[in-house]
Amino acid sequence: MANIIDGKRLAQQLTDTITKETANYCKRYPRPCLTIVSSGADPASQIYIRTKLRALEAAGMQSRVIQLSEQVCEAEIAAHIARLNRDDDVDGILVQLPLPSPLESTRILDLLDPKKDVDGFTAENLGRLLTGAPRFIPCTPHGIMYALHAYHIPVRGAHAVVVGRSAIVGKPLAALLTAADATVTLCHSNTRNLAAITRQADILIAAVGCPALITGDMMKEGATVIDVGINRVADPAAPHGKRLVGDVDFEAAAARAAWITPVPGGVGPLTVAMVLRNTLYAAQLRHGCTPAKNTASEAAGC
Ligand code: NAD
Repeated sequence: MANIIDGKRLAQQLTDTITKETANYCKRYPRPCLTIVSSGADPASQIYIRTKLRALEAAGMQSRVIQLSEQVCEAEIAAHIARLNRDDDVDGILVQLPLPSPLESTRILDLLDPKKDVDGFTAENLGRLLTGAPRFIPCTPHGIMYALHAYHIPVRGAHAVVVGRSAIVGKPLAALLTAADATVTLCHSNTRNLAAITRQADILIAAVGCPALITGDMMKEGATVIDVGINRVADPAAPHGKRLVGDVDFEAAAARAAWITPVPGGVGPLTVAMVLRNTLYAAQLRHGCTPAKNTASEAAGC
């Protein structure tokens, strides 16, 4: 039976450290401030935003939300972003994804001042990640690297298979794993014979958004399995008739893997902790007081 990678506990420890660092920082500077730009009323996005706001407040940071309508146009979002880029009281800006169609997230994210881009999604910050000089590491991949490091799961020389190639999870994670000396295979919707590849993985990461895509027979005995997926499936026994599952068939995977992240309580809380970490870092950058040692990134081996 696999050991559980307890993302909730790890995230709490990291949050405690960030909260102390924030209190220290606030002795000399204003409270770090993150502004979230939200468009439309996607229920899952609203839950993620509330979770981030609660975490920011608990860590002693300021948070604001700009709520725009589902019908918002690119020019309107661009005007808000331009104002936030100029606003001296705002340290970090986060554009909540997904954006309502037909808005193009890549174009809009690239309007952010890279020094306030706490998600690390601008072309400049993704480019810096690829060239080995990261500024803001995207929060979900960062949280995953942090967990691998915290649980002493060997990355150097390991074969890491990442399923899903989005610009916010799969691609930056592949870059981080490569930088940490793993041999990386990046799979996607056109990958042929996915199971034959996932079975070779020492570290298997699923970031697709498809419940139970990864079954027990798609992994090798003793693998580390990281489940990024968040899917709401019908369950008459659950409150509100729905429950959260990942992309991995958890029961079957837990019988074969050595380590596994649960959903919920795995990658999700670590993502939120990294939002805090990047917000504090954005404030420190703006005030020219970046710590010589960056707790989370160093611990993640980044
Ligand atoms: P996305 O839709 O942008 O990308 C999905 C990727 O999966 C694509 O690259 C696609 O090629 C690939 N894919 C689709 N079907 C596939 C198949 N059958 N086989 C192999 N690959 C396939 O998704 P995303 O934004 O990267 O998010 C992925 C999942 O992770 C979602 O469930 C999302 O909710 C979740 N997520 C969780 C966190 C967290 O903090 N836990 C953060 C971000 C995203």
